[in-house]
Amino acid sequence: MDVELVSIGDELLLGFTIDTNAAFFAREAAALGIQVVRRATVGDGAEAIASAVKEALVRTGAVITSGGLGPTADDLTKPSIAALFNRGMRLDAAIVESLRARWKARGWPGELPEANRAQAMIPEDAVILENRHGSAPGIWLEDEAGRWVAMLPGVPREFRGMTRDVLLPRLVGMGAGGTVVRSRTLRTTGIAESALADALGPLAKDPEGVALAYLPGWEGVDLRLTVRDLPGDEADRRLDAAATALRARVARHVYGEDDADLAVLVLEALRAQRMRIAVAESCTGGMLGMRLTAIAGSSDVVHGGVIAYDNAVKTGQLGVRPETLAAHGAVSEETAREMASGVRERLGVDVGVSITGVAGPGGGTPEKPVGTYCVAVDVRGALRSFRASSVGDRHEVRQRATQAALSLVRASLGR
Ligand code: AMP
Ligand code: MG
Repeated sequence: MDVELVSIGDELLLGFTIDTNAAFFAREAAALGIQVVRRATVGDGAEAIASAVKEALVRTGAVITSGGLGPTADDLTKPSIAALFNRGMRLDAAIVESLRARWKARGWPGELPEANRAQAMIPEDAVILENRHGSAPGIWLEDEAGRWVAMLPGVPREFRGMTRDVLLPRLVGMGAGGTVVRSRTLRTTGIAESALADALGPLAKDPEGVALAYLPGWEGVDLRLTVRDLPGDEADRRLDAAATALRARVARHVYGEDDADLAVLVLEALRAQRMRIAVAESCTGGMLGMRLTAIAGSSDVVHGGVIAYDNAVKTGQLGVRPETLAAHGAVSEETAREMASGVRERLGVDVGVSITGVAGPGGGTPEKPVGTYCVAVDVRGALRSFRASSVGDRHEVRQRATQAALSLVRASLGR
């Protein structure tokens, strides 16, 4: 099934809000055999909305809109599309009631504002799409020729929830999904795109007849496998075969699939070996601690850490020797190793991990240009470290150094 998306909102056109709804919908729908064949973005004006939807109806006859269902004057999606379908608007008493109940349940003061009644105005002969994630329901309008528009709210949490609960099941029920587009991602880190392609050898291009894309980013290089125009189970079989073939060649660099987070893997490895970890961070200022503690349940494994930004903290709190700093500098494997051992010993844990680097934009030297970072891991006295250099701005350097530290912990634990 082919569909078009119309994203509505001045903020999208102005670039203040990124259209995450469209990306979300396209991904979810493709997996079910529903292809987004065209996307449009328009402002909040009634005419702009109507003309974009009208064109899409003529072309594809299957349109999903996002946004403009709110209670305020700039929310014109429903009346402008109703007019296209030559339908009037009516007040739906059941929606008013549910809005009232919601207002009360939230403990907001006074009565439901008059403005909210706009959310209970729906086109005649529309199907109401239940919204369990917010106040404005979605609307489904269809004409005699079977052309339809599904209107969903723009708030991303509501859009996503309704796409999953209501819209996609409805489209599948209409017969979408004979064939699918499906993807699987193998996530690698610590290896360059070109080296990965070399390691894959004959599989570097379209393994097992499956399209392979190399997607480099600060977390590493993702290998995305995609199959198209196949029945769902056949698509899964092909993806399995291709993923297995790739893993056979580069397993060492693969830390997970799809949304896998290296921090989760590191925590699991530590937990499995009954080890606790402490961090010593210079240039990343807590980012490594944040990555680890962002994972629910990390408290049984993460002990704490020291943000050792100034050299005085490196020496005073971590026991880095002034001679080491004088001889090799703060950004050196030697300093990183003493930071890792220092934090491990002083916090009394099994594993210490450290990061030191030049995040930029200032502070680079010919020997240590901006982007240079050193990471070290001490596992019960066994030390490993490396020095590397990152591309990108300050934020990216810090992110890459953090990911590299996690990667070294994983390797040090034999994972
Ligand atoms: P609306 O439903 O148009 O009132 O939008 C409500 C909120 O959702 C606003 O804060 C918008 O910035 C946000 N929003 C609207 N459309 C999108 C979209 N396509 N992607 C991400 N956020 C959106
Ligand atoms: Mg809006």
